[in-house]
Amino acid sequence: MADLHVRSVLVTGANRGIGLGFVQQFLQMPKPPEWVFAACRDPKGQRAQELQNLASRHPNVVIIQLDVADPSSIKAAAARVEEQLEGSGLNLLINNAAIAKMTTLDGETLEDMIQVYTTNTAGPLLLGQAFLPLLKKAAQGSPGSALSCSKAAIINISSSAGSIASPLGWDKMQVVSYRCSKAALNMLTKCQSLGYREHGILCVALNPGWVQTEMGSSSGDMAPVTVDTSVQGMLKVLSSLSEKDTSTFLNWKGNVLPW
Ligand code: NDP
Repeated sequence: MADLHVRSVLVTGANRGIGLGFVQQFLQMPKPPEWVFAACRDPKGQRAQELQNLASRHPNVVIIQLDVADPSSIKAAAARVEEQLEGSGLNLLINNAAIAKMTTLDGETLEDMIQVYTTNTAGPLLLGQAFLPLLKKAAQGSPGSALSCSKAAIINISSSAGSIASPLGWDKMQVVSYRCSKAALNMLTKCQSLGYREHGILCVALNPGWVQTEMGSSSGDMAPVTVDTSVQGMLKVLSSLSEKDTSTFLNWKGNVLPW
């Protein structure tokens, strides 16, 4: 983790689960970011209590209201972050927020397909667009031309459930809308890496493993990986990413996964 020097980071879905884990571990770094933008859809709600407590102890944590399924909320969040950054850029955008519906192939509905796609795929697309000026600014302000997470990066938290070549866990959970949304998120990552490379922005899809969160427990089985272990692994991976890694699908241990 030693090589990840991030001045500013934004994490979506930061009030619980893996998103909250990211915020906690950024704050524990030897050199924490100057700004940790912790975005969540209901900052004053019960489910954001732990994040509120964290923010009250750490002045570099800024809680941002953000519903990733609402384009106007995304625009407002980008404006709020820009204002706070006072002319500097955003180094890291972590698209972590997502939903999963416990559906079967036969029971899947149009409504579920649309809601899950809107949140898990369209959300990260619109966030990339809204934060592009700030990510570009960070890349321009960073010395050297090589891509890295310390310079400017979009990290899309994906899932092996969305791998077409190796779709994990079909026997346990069919979750068709979720799988399709993550397969599409992987393609979005490819598109973003192609489109944003010239701006100096690295883009990867990252699978956190099967993690002990609300989502990770939704099959009823105990997930093997703790939030801390997963996030520690992912931060180590982020610290090691370079030019050659943009446009890849990796897991929390740094192994390349099949799309
Ligand atoms: P959780 O269900 O524990 O948390 C999901 C987070 O996303 C919550 O903060 C939730 O906020 C937020 N969220 C959902 N919808 C929206 C929205 N419209 N706008 C803003 N925030 C929203 O999930 P995890 O922490 O486990 O998952 C984090 C990421 O990791 C996801 O992308 C998931 O797909 C991925 N992943 C997780 C795995 C696991 O085993 N846990 C396995 C593979 C991938 P709220 O409290 O408001 O609902």
